[in-house]
Amino acid sequence: RSVLERIEAVDPQVKAYITVCAEEALGAARQADEARARGKEAPLLGCPISIKDVICTQGIRTTCGSKMLENFIPPYDATVVERLKAAGAVIVGKTNMDEFAMGSSTENSAFFPTANPWDLSRIPGGSSGGSAAAVAADECLASLGSDTGGSIRQPASHCGIVGLKPTYGRVSRFGLVAFASSLDQIGPMTKDVTDAALLLSVISGYDAKDSTSVAEPVPDYRQFLKVDLKGLKIGVPREYFIPGMDQEVESAVKEALIIMEKEGAELVEISLPHSQYAVAAYYIIAPAEASSNLARYDGVKYGFRAQEYTDLLSLYKKTRSEGFGAEVKRRIMLGTYALSAGYYDAFYLKASRVRTLIVEDFKKAFALCDVIATPVAPTPAFARGEKLDDPLQMYLSDVFTIATNLAGIPGISIPCGFSKEGLPIGLQLMAPHFEEGRLLQVAYSFE
Ligand code: GLN
Repeated sequence: RSVLERIEAVDPQVKAYITVCAEEALGAARQADEARARGKEAPLLGCPISIKDVICTQGIRTTCGSKMLENFIPPYDATVVERLKAAGAVIVGKTNMDEFAMGSSTENSAFFPTANPWDLSRIPGGSSGGSAAAVAADECLASLGSDTGGSIRQPASHCGIVGLKPTYGRVSRFGLVAFASSLDQIGPMTKDVTDAALLLSVISGYDAKDSTSVAEPVPDYRQFLKVDLKGLKIGVPREYFIPGMDQEVESAVKEALIIMEKEGAELVEISLPHSQYAVAAYYIIAPAEASSNLARYDGVKYGFRAQEYTDLLSLYKKTRSEGFGAEVKRRIMLGTYALSAGYYDAFYLKASRVRTLIVEDFKKAFALCDVIATPVAPTPAFARGEKLDDPLQMYLSDVFTIATNLAGIPGISIPCGFSKEGLPIGLQLMAPHFEEGRLLQVAYSFE
């Protein structure tokens, strides 16, 4: 009830939610109370949690921030939602996002932009900006986001919360509306590291409905929450700390490195030489996969359909012209071009090769260290509208987060300081595949 009151009080300014399920949430909360009275125990019993609107919720509208799915009500729950409910969670609502998760500011939502709760004139980051803002503004206790190129970590950093992108295959993508299937991963966005560990334990694990989910045993991630970094090697990639970088980001992250050293970790300089090509490779691979995934929105099967058309082709054309926003169209065009005959080798194949080089960079780096530490975003949260007309500038907000997705490794964003203007700054930690425990262990030393 207090979360719903808080939503009523602040969401008219923050605009974190596309849909608030007040009635259903109160009903579920009452059931949780009754279950508790009967002696039931469950890890999230009665916890009000929000869900990014790209994750299917049975009977609750799931829009992906798009006009195309404005009235789409899924007939089933995503596996992560099923698991949350089984753990006793109460779904409070669906959070705003960049259309089909394409963006870094939540300004690409077809409905409205979300504000950063720390400064309403700034963006909350994106594409999971609604989730990050909702957690930061106490409009839920935790949220689930999705991360294809930084969409959990970058908004977490801008809103001063914890955001974890798990290893590719750790969490089922069944019921996550696909953006770029080889990069997408669902993860927790929480107030602290303990909550991230708890949520990750609940949502992780093999799912027969997602052929890329991995049958690796799921530990209780809370076992990693102990302050002891003795013997741990923290890799600091020289390519991520460059002359000309934002001074406030640099000093906040460097201070965090000093804290880790004080806790007993050893800092080692490493190199990730191909990271400089990560943005270029990502903006071929992600749009290529998106152009294929988004072919399903044709006005026939489900979702928006244009009112007037003459034949099947005009139905497709009008539906897609009217239903998709500018950024989504840009990606479909880029991706279709990169995959077309004659260009495939020059663009898609080349980007895939760069991806392999990035994977190898990380392999070499993790032979020298246990965890890698970098900034999350090049600057603190920028002003609304600042990058809206300049897609390239917007894409560059992802420089530090994208390599993680290309390599499929886990990454976490944790608050590590503030700018002079009082805006949160995040530290990113990355670990080898399925070593989320290490991320949580190092992150916990900051609490
Ligand atoms: N900002 C990146 C993009 O626009 C990443 C988005 C994401 O992780 N979903 O593609």
